[in-house]
Amino acid sequence: MERPKVNLGGIIHFSTIDWRGKAAMVIFLRRCPLRCIYCQNYNLLEDDDYKDMDVIEDAIRASEDFIDAVVLSGGEPFMQPQVIDAIAKYARGRGLMVGVQTNGYYPERVESLHAEIDRIFLDIKMPLNGDLYERLTKVRDASERVRKTLEVCLHANIELELVTTVFRDLVGAAEVKEIVKELCDLGAADCPYIIQQGRIERIPPHAGLTESSVFSYDELKELAQAAYRAAAVKEVRIRTRETGEEVVVRATSAGVANDK
Ligand code: SF4
Repeated sequence: MERPKVNLGGIIHFSTIDWRGKAAMVIFLRRCPLRCIYCQNYNLLEDDDYKDMDVIEDAIRASEDFIDAVVLSGGEPFMQPQVIDAIAKYARGRGLMVGVQTNGYYPERVESLHAEIDRIFLDIKMPLNGDLYERLTKVRDASERVRKTLEVCLHANIELELVTTVFRDLVGAAEVKEIVKELCDLGAADCPYIIQQGRIERIPPHAGLTESSVFSYDELKELAQAAYRAAAVKEVRIRTRETGEEVVVRATSAGVANDK
């Protein structure tokens, strides 16, 4: 079978913040069907840069002694399903785990590829009900597709983490509380829920986001507590560039554990 070309945005050879507890290589794939207001990767959305699979395989072999996993990110990796398949098979053949960060726009592709993937990190950008998803992503059917992807992952029993990126006056406490309620209603209460600090670096000026739009570390922890109080979600984490990812609150058989 012909090897796919990889529309490659870049490679981070070693990351400890993209998969909690694991050292990972992160491979960025170009293009995305969404146009989120706060996108930090606009440079990956319009142009192409096709590489041979050899480039990816060489990079994996060069790092495999130092990493546990390969994470595919973007852009939207599921725009290149044959590439996901090829990289996942190669990485697993080298003894590495495979994760995919996705905006959830391609439920059918997730369904057909899930057996090749160890963990999916699914964006839940806004409450799925109402029109906020469309306003953020500029795409009409995004929330329906994300909901379907969530259902596919839950049905397939794939390891799943759910991620919301927050910005003051755009995605804040009200939206986060609504999201966790919806997630519990959809049967995803057991999936770790991650509140990710939105950053303004590389965001285009027309987005209207400034330094004051960025939640502080302490505010993120308050958001996590508010999410936990709003619904019966089992574990809420926060993620920042500076401190990585940490569990803020987790339900245990003995009650509630705060701060790890
Ligand atoms: S889904 Fe991700 S890559 Fe695509 S536009 Fe939104 S933030 Fe950017």
